[in-house]
Amino acid sequence: MSQRLVVVGAGTMGAGIAYVAAGSGCDVVVVDVDAGRGAAARQQIRGWADKAVARGRSTEADAAALLERLGVMTNLTEVAPGPDVVVEAVPENVDLKRRVLADAEELEPKLLGSNTSSISIDSLAAGLRRPERFCGLHFFNPVYAMALLEIVVGEATDDDARRAALGLADRLGKQPIVVRDSPGFATSRLGNALGLEAIRMLETGVASAVDIDRAMVLGYRYPMGPLELSDVVGLDVRLDISRTLQRAYGDRFSPPQLLLDMVAEGKLGRKTGEGFYRWIDGEKVNP
Ligand code: NAD
Repeated sequence: MSQRLVVVGAGTMGAGIAYVAAGSGCDVVVVDVDAGRGAAARQQIRGWADKAVARGRSTEADAAALLERLGVMTNLTEVAPGPDVVVEAVPENVDLKRRVLADAEELEPKLLGSNTSSISIDSLAAGLRRPERFCGLHFFNPVYAMALLEIVVGEATDDDARRAALGLADRLGKQPIVVRDSPGFATSRLGNALGLEAIRMLETGVASAVDIDRAMVLGYRYPMGPLELSDVVGLDVRLDISRTLQRAYGDRFSPPQLLLDMVAEGKLGRKTGEGFYRWIDGEKVNP
């Protein structure tokens, strides 16, 4: 039976989640207050679907059917009530997310999820009428390529919601992990611990950036070293998360001076063309 899924926010993540869900046979509505973002998401999804056809991973008919299953709206009140899942993917701002989640709850979804990458699920659940149906549904970018769904269960999340979240992962072809609500969940906490330590090693001259990254790629089979990954994530994002984790866990997550300096100088990694590496058109150019 087809599932009905509503995605709130048609940005990078919302579009990605909608594409994967529609491609998995769900009927999807994407809601964005900005009609332009909604239209852009539809274009983006069409582009991904066309690319999948060109690469022989999908057929023209499947791509057309995927787009048929996709609706774009500007207001949650236009959406038919009773969807299976609502996923909130609006910007990382507590007050905004709380407002959107309260409105989304009015649709009476079986499962309500937030794609937050750092905000406490319990704090988002605080204003909800039915917090037992709510959990974190943390997808990764680009959603079509990243296998993980980090399910974050709050104090109030009940077993039905947990099962529904696991069912959603299965439906969308994602591999789930279940994590108790705690700052940084599993992914950001571990990723930042390694990233910050790598920056401290570079700062104190233990090895070059290339050799620090090679240590993990060649020695531990990481697909990418921690400094290159920091460039991809964005050094400003690294810094924000490190401050959140420092508040929660203390100085082991305090940002190294080198990170503070690079952010102050606008060296944010891939998106600005310079970080631990140099980047042109999104590609690493050296060494
Ligand atoms: P984005 O800025 O690309 O998109 C957010 C969208 O939400 C925008 O289109 C905006 O118009 C829309 N929006 C704002 N207020 C709204 C409202 N009241 N109702 C409906 N839509 C509204 O953001 P993003 O990068 O897609 O991130 C979304 C969430 O996903 C954030 O919580 C972020 O932390 C998390 N996340 C991001 C990534 C990533 O790599 N970008 C990865 C994992 C998780």
